[in-house]
Amino acid sequence: MLDFVTGLRCRECAHEFPAEALHVCDYCFGPLEVAYDYERIAATVTRARIESGPRTIWRYRDLLPVSDESPVDLGAGFTPLVRADRLAAELGLGELWIKDDTANPTGSFKDRVVSVALTKARQLGFKVAACASTGNLANSVAAHAARAGMESVVLIPHDLEKAKVTMTTIYGGTVIAVEGTYDDVNRLCAELTSERPSWAFVNVNVRTYYAEGSKTLAFEIAEQLGWRAPDHVVVPIGSGSQLTKVAKGFAELGKVGLLDEVPHVRVSGAQADGCSPVATAFAQGTDAIRPVKPKTIAKSLAIGNPADGWYALQTMRSTGGSCASVTDDEVVEAIGLLARTEGIFAETAGGVTIATLAKLAASGAVRPDECVVALVTGHGLKTVEALADYTGPTATIAPTLAAFDAVLERDGARSPG
Ligand SMILES: *Cc1c(COP(=O)(O)O)cnc(C)c1O
Ligand SMILES: [Zn+2]
Repeated sequence: MLDFVTGLRCRECAHEFPAEALHVCDYCFGPLEVAYDYERIAATVTRARIESGPRTIWRYRDLLPVSDESPVDLGAGFTPLVRADRLAAELGLGELWIKDDTANPTGSFKDRVVSVALTKARQLGFKVAACASTGNLANSVAAHAARAGMESVVLIPHDLEKAKVTMTTIYGGTVIAVEGTYDDVNRLCAELTSERPSWAFVNVNVRTYYAEGSKTLAFEIAEQLGWRAPDHVVVPIGSGSQLTKVAKGFAELGKVGLLDEVPHVRVSGAQADGCSPVATAFAQGTDAIRPVKPKTIAKSLAIGNPADGWYALQTMRSTGGSCASVTDDEVVEAIGLLARTEGIFAETAGGVTIATLAKLAASGAVRPDECVVALVTGHGLKTVEALADYTGPTATIAPTLAAFDAVLERDGARSPG
């Protein structure tokens, strides 16, 4: 298998390092990024080569940082890109698509990043997979570690949704609930990384590789649109990693000649009001992201001090994108809107994306003449608590025709007959 990785490069001072388990620059403490030989990739990769690959993220392996023959793979990626005309009509938009990452093996986009991170971790000789998680990452690390025959140790905030805790524990790893916020958990994980150098912390010491998995969202969107880039994508922001890598993915498609020209994709970000450090900095026109203490039902996005927040800001500004935040009530309303217009049940993070899309459409930041893709990143069954006060049967009746008719009469507007 070919490997086009030339090493790791500091995003600040451009110093180069070997492709090992490194994540910060020894010279300036800047974050590292995987560097590729794009000329060699361009000479090898073709649309046909990709189209003959597996229906997973691994069809894009020429643009991923692993040469291992057999990836740690549960089938992540190549999720549906759904044309959303009914939702578009509600929002006053034109060509609107939903990238439905609820369809991933553990129900969120995190399967993309974890499949890449653990493939690289196994290749580097790690036996234990670990992470700090807002929930979905824990699900995915535990599942992929089980698949790979690795041990897993995941750390989560103590107040996560029940389904996310159940999903993580069933895969048999060690799950530690920490009395604190995600940012407290993440700090503890950073300390643990130096204490346990033989563990692969997917979002710390192998984060450089992990992050590359998010590029596959851009690759799939372009391929599924018939090798065409959209005009505008709306991406939820937790740490900000996904948003920056989606932009990198579109740029790479242009660089290696898979798209006819280097695309210009506007990238906009979505946050919840209860944790909006990036949206706040965007609105204030500043580079300084002030950390917050999260308080929102969108727990998978509840990162008060986002590691890639600054890069996400630069990406949104340089692409001509926008950024906004929405209330928890708007999140719940948007989950319902997406479900009843398109038949897609999203978790709270998906509600954040759709509610923000609605807001940006209303303000004119997202326009009806654009081809727009909204990233719905996690499945609704993971966050049913958030909907407890809003959902339930239309009526509960005795098993008789009379009782049934009485309900339909009372509720005339809903009667199909
Ligand atoms: C983690 C997560 C995000 C945010 O991704 P970042 O790379 O941290 O910005 C978005 N949606 C869901 C469902 C997630 O689990
Ligand atoms: Zn540096």
